[in-house]
Amino acid sequence: PQPGAPLLEVERAVKQFGGLRAVSDVSFSLRAGEILGLIGPNGAGKSTLFNLVTGVSPATGGRVTLGGQDVTRLPARQIHRLGVARTFQHVHLQPDQTLLANTMMGGYARGRAGLLASLLHLERAEEAALHHEALRQLERVGLGPHAHTLAGNLALGQQRILEIARALVADPTLLLLDEPAAGLRYGEKLELITLLRRLRDDGVTILIVEHDMNLVMTLVDRLVVMNSGEKLAEGNPDEIRAHPAVREAYLGV
Ligand code: ADP
Ligand code: MG
Repeated sequence: PQPGAPLLEVERAVKQFGGLRAVSDVSFSLRAGEILGLIGPNGAGKSTLFNLVTGVSPATGGRVTLGGQDVTRLPARQIHRLGVARTFQHVHLQPDQTLLANTMMGGYARGRAGLLASLLHLERAEEAALHHEALRQLERVGLGPHAHTLAGNLALGQQRILEIARALVADPTLLLLDEPAAGLRYGEKLELITLLRRLRDDGVTILIVEHDMNLVMTLVDRLVVMNSGEKLAEGNPDEIRAHPAVREAYLGV
């Protein structure tokens, strides 16, 4: 998509878990080339919103469109194939597999019928292409020299970067990051900011959930603030810092 073109549209999204409305009537949109931050206290509904955008756990109400296409009811695999990749709040890696093998899994997931079927049906040429692509993405995020190390040997910060490489193998237009800086040291956070800016400059649109306010305010173009399942505010970092309801409910000032 052209920079600035509407990419993701979430319209009055609702996610009901029994009696709990984890996401309640939330609307926002994301333009190609933007970095949008999603913030709010624990339990605000941020990860749930990620799950309904990615099809992991679909909305019980409202609509999600991607480049104008309604994806509200599409399975995760199909949304992934449309160019949406993500990382999870808790690291999802195979510790006894190499970085290369872990990164390649981001491509299998995009296959026709899930991981197992893809492994069985993957042509040798496809396998070679995926291998090449995984190495390329590891180099892109700075983990190239460790391609043949076991993922379990990495420090937490590097594991989080590895998850980004795995998401990038699918060549996403939209990348969703759920607390990518959790547990990272200061220097690793600076490297993460540099990496995410570089990805954006390469045409990847980014939606990021992050608790580190310094990091998020430095990185993003706009923010959506959630509280108790609802959208509390939306705006650029200066507007959010000055927003009375945000200061009261979230920043605690
Ligand atoms: P956040 O990521 O903002 O911390 P979540 O989206 O994880 O918040 O959770 C929002 C609310 O929804 C919380 O009250 C949480 O307990 C609830 N919740 C999340 N997932 C489920 C689920 N699968 N079943 C029931 N309740 C859930
Ligand atoms: Mg969460």
